Amino acid sequence: MKRLIFLGPPGAGKGTQAKILAEHYKIPHISTGDILRQAIADKTPLGLQAQNYMDKGELVPDDLILGLIKERLSQSDTNNGWILDGFPRNLNQAKFLAELLAKMGQSVDYVINLDVPDRTLIERLLSRGRKDDNQATIARRLEVYRQQTAPVIDFYAQTGHLKVVNGDQSMREVTNSLKQIVEA
Ligand code: AMP
Repeated sequence: MKRLIFLGPPGAGKGTQAKILAEHYKIPHISTGDILRQAIADKTPLGLQAQNYMDKGELVPDDLILGLIKERLSQSDTNNGWILDGFPRNLNQAKFLAELLAKMGQSVDYVINLDVPDRTLIERLLSRGRKDDNQATIARRLEVYRQQTAPVIDFYAQTGHLKVVNGDQSMREVTNSLKQIVEA
């Protein structure tokens, strides 16, 4: 069973690596950011509510995110595992997930923190060209990460599930480090 959470600041390579590993292990890659961007493209009520927050680099409120995750993890393609990318983003989300998984009789196998120096993050984000990858929004997203998401790392360090991977390597090297952890 592979139930994995990818943590790490914006630009750490979570999405790229989650996609590669999800294909390799044939499990779904669940990115709350991707789900929200799709909702915006589809102009759904969720998308309309989320857009403002995303454009500013703020977290979308939990009441929009928690139901979405609960619904996604109840779909049958998650039976053999999943990779969560971009969730949980704050302590409340982490606690919600722990309770949800307990109710479903499941548990997380590994929580992987991709560690990358700020200098590299900013370079990567500026070269990516997504709508929220501009100087002001990047600065705010890094701040939000430090204030709200970094405590999630301590939360999982206490549960004993946390692994730290150096994300400041080539894409292939990071993938190999991740596979070593997951297959150990
Ligand atoms: P990402 O694609 O993970 O970088 O997310 C892009 C943006 O979507 C973030 O800056 C947030 O505005 C929003 N977002 C994604 N996941 C979450 C989440 N778990 N909680 C709140 N907001 C989120």
